[in-house]
Amino acid sequence: MTSCVFCSIISGDIPSKKIYEDEHTYAFFDISQVTKGHTLVVPKHHHKNLFELPESEVSHVFKTVQKVATALNKTFSPAGLNLVNNNGEAAGQTVFHYHVHLIPRYDQADGYQ
Ligand code: 5GP
Ligand code: ZN
Repeated sequence: MTSCVFCSIISGDIPSKKIYEDEHTYAFFDISQVTKGHTLVVPKHHHKNLFELPESEVSHVFKTVQKVATALNKTFSPAGLNLVNNNGEAAGQTVFHYHVHLIPRYDQADGYQ
């Protein structure tokens, strides 16, 4: 039994809107879309935060971040994209399974933030 919501998403026990998956990583829409296309990239293994992420997993995570960012650009044509990674409660982390937020940014004229 796991009490980690992202481990449950990766195992399929909790449904998610999958964007991309490979041997090491999983990407899915954030349930609470800060902007249209807001996506999370996670390693499949459970690591709490950046400080516990093994060096060998860093490249896997960021290769997927780049792939998914490119796909989001093609799909949503945002004006820009923020990568956000909160580490620790004091930094705003609420799910303690390492993840990177991909937040597409739109011109205000588009009606998105
Ligand atoms: P943090 O605050 O830890 O950087 O980000 C955690 C993110 O996980 C939040 O943006 C939150 O909306 C998202 N989240 C929490 N629970 C779920 C869930 O069950 N499904 C999905 N897709 N996202 C979730
Ligand atoms: Zn986990």
